[in-house]
Amino acid sequence: MQNPEEKIKRLRQQLAEHNYRYYVLDDPEISDAEYDRLMRELISLEAAYPQWITPDSPTQRVGGQASDAFEPLPHSIAMLSLDNALEESEFLEFDERTRRLLGRETVDYFCEPKLDGLAVELIYENGRFIAGSTRGDGLVGENISQNLRTIKTIPLSLFQPIPRLEVRGEVLLSKQAFEKLNRQRQAEDEPLFANPRNAAAGSLRQLDPQITASRPLEIFCYGAGQVIGLDYDSHQQLLQAFKKLGLRINPLVRPCSGVAEVIRYHREMSERRDQLPYEIDGIVVKVNRLADQERLGAKTKSPRWAIAYKFPAQQETTQILDIIVQVGRTGVLTPVAVMRPVKIGGVEVSRATLHNQDEIDRKDIRLGDWVLVQRAGDVIPEVVKSIASRRDGTEKKFTLPETCPECGSHTVRPEGEAAQRCINLACPAQLRERIRHFSSKKAMDIDGLGEKLIEQLVEKKLVKDVSDLYFLQEKDLAALERIAEKSAKNLLQAIAASRRRPLDRVLFGLGLRFVGEHLSRVLVNHYGSLDKLARASEEELLNIHEIGPQVARSVVDFFSTAENLRILERLQKGGVTMQWQPGTDTRLAGKSFCFTGSLQKYSREQAEALVIQKGGRAVSSISTKTDYLVAGETAGSKLAKAQTLGVKVITEAEFEQLVR
Ligand SMILES: [Zn+2]
Repeated sequence: MQNPEEKIKRLRQQLAEHNYRYYVLDDPEISDAEYDRLMRELISLEAAYPQWITPDSPTQRVGGQASDAFEPLPHSIAMLSLDNALEESEFLEFDERTRRLLGRETVDYFCEPKLDGLAVELIYENGRFIAGSTRGDGLVGENISQNLRTIKTIPLSLFQPIPRLEVRGEVLLSKQAFEKLNRQRQAEDEPLFANPRNAAAGSLRQLDPQITASRPLEIFCYGAGQVIGLDYDSHQQLLQAFKKLGLRINPLVRPCSGVAEVIRYHREMSERRDQLPYEIDGIVVKVNRLADQERLGAKTKSPRWAIAYKFPAQQETTQILDIIVQVGRTGVLTPVAVMRPVKIGGVEVSRATLHNQDEIDRKDIRLGDWVLVQRAGDVIPEVVKSIASRRDGTEKKFTLPETCPECGSHTVRPEGEAAQRCINLACPAQLRERIRHFSSKKAMDIDGLGEKLIEQLVEKKLVKDVSDLYFLQEKDLAALERIAEKSAKNLLQAIAASRRRPLDRVLFGLGLRFVGEHLSRVLVNHYGSLDKLARASEEELLNIHEIGPQVARSVVDFFSTAENLRILERLQKGGVTMQWQPGTDTRLAGKSFCFTGSLQKYSREQAEALVIQKGGRAVSSISTKTDYLVAGETAGSKLAKAQTLGVKVITEAEFEQLVR
């Protein structure tokens, strides 16, 4: 075994290198989770061998390092970092220690989402913004005043001339802005940012403030450094005072009394995480009362009165063992990385999409590469980037095959498209995917029609298109392997039940390109039957709000294909709903609704379905013709737009009044 001193040295060196890449180059090459693991390993080794702790060990610093590009700006009160709790048990330990030190049964906490951006300090003197900096190493930051001035949510003067106020907050970039920025960079052949946080950091630490100004950065304020002339007894009061001064506070912050409430808050935020317009990676729990905070004090690196209670990581590092090619329902060839299994957010991941050849080339991903993999919410895991420094020369470049791996047909790549396709309509892979989509939860919801079964139905030619499902007999299924009589009966029942699905789901299930759940509802709502929709011209379709040229083209193409018309006819014969039966309830007739932010009681789909059911229209973008904008929590840019356009904004409760 390696001797511990050597190991400590090596860990320090690794951590220093990753630190540099992360903070100075804004280009990390390991996941945060892996970084945390290295750090924890070092901490535990140093705890066992304290004689080898040196002042320059990364464990002895608050993290970060000022870059030479900016003037140093010392913090009058150190900007500490927070200890992390990765598991509930670690948070419980924190609570127990806090209660013991305060000698109290329950502690009043204040909880906030842990924003995944860049921590900054803003200095106001007599109510005027005079300077601002990054955290840097906690003692000295970088003076980025000019760049901070370009952020519209940072007030340049406060509503009251407080003698001195040092405000701490997080600067971030929304997920949407991040994606847009990366698309631009891709078009200009510039390296991509790995995540919104790196994009925010990169944008904020620009030498040219004009570039910073062009990026829609925003801030949420959550703490104070030195304060002169402002009285407050608790963290909650501080934030209320901030609000009155014109500083932006995150709307999801909330006081929580005792552990149970904190754990509930953690769970709630974790569930809402994917719907939020910006990235969060946990919650921050602070002891609310100022007197308690002072009693608890701080350690060298972090305060004892606060902790970051993190969500499971969403990015991990692993190795690509193979690259396989999958054929989708429209014939698109998708390269998929088969990887050394790795746990991400508690789920084992061994496959991740590589999207298409362009993405592989752009990210320079090779067979055998070590890569950063991301799994966020329900989204298919994807390879974020390759780690070139870990190559040993055995890695191989990958190119999609010229022929379909399923049926051997020649593949084409239409001009202007990233996707390479198999154009053989009888390709079994495409058929399998079409059946899978048709029977999926959000379409016809046919329970029990699993992958293996679909494979056999296609292989035995029992199902040559989706309409064949409605003509299946028990004796057909009996011929299949591994299907018990009972499950065959259940499947036939599930298929029978799916005949009554509403028309919009039938249309969605047919899988027209660019026609998702929402547009399926829009089209069905407009035409009332697939017969009428089938006769619609491109011009006519374009007159419908929300239908663009791509969708119109796709609809006309679909219904002008003889094979598709035959399938529709067979579906009708098979007893599938072909008419839209609007409810007799018409109280929302003629009214259009747009939604923003997350609602408490409904998902976006449920709310839209409710509107349509009552005879109204659900639209996804706002215009002067929109009657109502229903604003949930953390409403996005639509809210501002509605206000500008004079569209009536209502709350979820008011919406309920209308539909009830
Ligand atoms: Zn094929």
